[in-house]
Amino acid sequence: MASPDYVILGGGVVGLTTALELKSRHPSSTIAIVAKHLPGDRSVEYASPWAGANWSSVATDNGVQESWDEITYHKFEDLADKFPEAGVGRMELRALFDNKIEDAAVLSPATGKVWYEKLVGGLRPVSEEVLKKHGVVFGWDWNSFIIDVQKYLPWLQNEILSRGIQIYRRNYDDIRELIKDFPNSKAFFNCTGLGSYHLKGVEDKLLYPTRGQILLVENPREPIVKQYEQGGQISLNGTPLTRMHFRSPQRVHRDTTYVFPRLPGGGVILGGCRVDNSWDGEADLEFAEDIKRRCCALAPELGKPEDLKVLYHGVGLRPSRKGGARVERTIFDGYVLIHNYGAGGAGYQSSW
Ligand code: FAD
Repeated sequence: MASPDYVILGGGVVGLTTALELKSRHPSSTIAIVAKHLPGDRSVEYASPWAGANWSSVATDNGVQESWDEITYHKFEDLADKFPEAGVGRMELRALFDNKIEDAAVLSPATGKVWYEKLVGGLRPVSEEVLKKHGVVFGWDWNSFIIDVQKYLPWLQNEILSRGIQIYRRNYDDIRELIKDFPNSKAFFNCTGLGSYHLKGVEDKLLYPTRGQILLVENPREPIVKQYEQGGQISLNGTPLTRMHFRSPQRVHRDTTYVFPRLPGGGVILGGCRVDNSWDGEADLEFAEDIKRRCCALAPELGKPEDLKVLYHGVGLRPSRKGGARVERTIFDGYVLIHNYGAGGAGYQSSW
């Protein structure tokens, strides 16, 4: 096999985005993606298909992590406006917090501010009535993006193929085997997510999983029929759900709850939890009932938990890393090896 100029190991959102960005910066270069899992696959070893997903920055470093999210926010504006088929849409997010703002992990310690307030066009405090109803301390509505990953990942893949980037499906136990297969390539990009925990030559034990469990449910139906009967406007996504909802007692918590409607009419993602250091890939059906109850309390537009029509259950492991994502150029066995893994729960919103 001829060696392309650049080889990317990993076909998740990070590897796919890296390929597109490389091609746009080096249009005449040859590029290959090599990965065990690709868009369309579902595996607990593949985080990308399980994300909700939305843009809700958790960066507070007053530095590079915030800038990754800012760049991506602008990219999503572009995609939402010019490429609706990509599956990225504008949608308001309502985020409710159980703690005082100082304890809610939303302020950048260096500035004492929420860094993205201006970027998103302001954080609109929710009413006292809403706070009281949910028993929370504070909450905001802001202009965000929903990413329908079932559309977005294939869209990224199509963009890649249309630019002549090759895709090979392969599994590597050792990064040295990859280099051996492409000995004349100029640089290798390691975008293996949690795979870098086991990948020989990397074996980064700072990585750990943050488990999430989700359900995809049908859009509530009755209101659509009612709206037709009344000759009214069908809401944006064909349901009475016109915004995303999020609530988490702490940043990492068993009761992290979110409701993300997919556009248009693509069902609703209900989550979930954020549990560190759990590699358990099985959906817990009893816990799924708890998710349903929490989501219906957070977004009563969903109706009653017992009426929800579940299409599937899923579990994804966010590729978390102590100290944050590793985005670093190294020299390995004389080859340029650029790491880009460990995005945790922010792989989409920081991807560009
Ligand atoms: P992955 O998607 O895991 O891809 C890794 C790739 O590397 C795969 O192709 C895999 O096959 C390949 N690979 C690994 N090891 C090898 C090997 N040895 N040989 C060959 N190939 C290999 N992010 C957001 O921004 N917003 C959200 O709202 C959000 N919500 C989330 C909700 C849940 C429940 C979960 C689980 C995640 C969520 N995330 C969210 C996080 C986001 O999904 C991840 O950060 C992102 O998918 C990580 O992408 P990745 O490409 O690094 O890893």
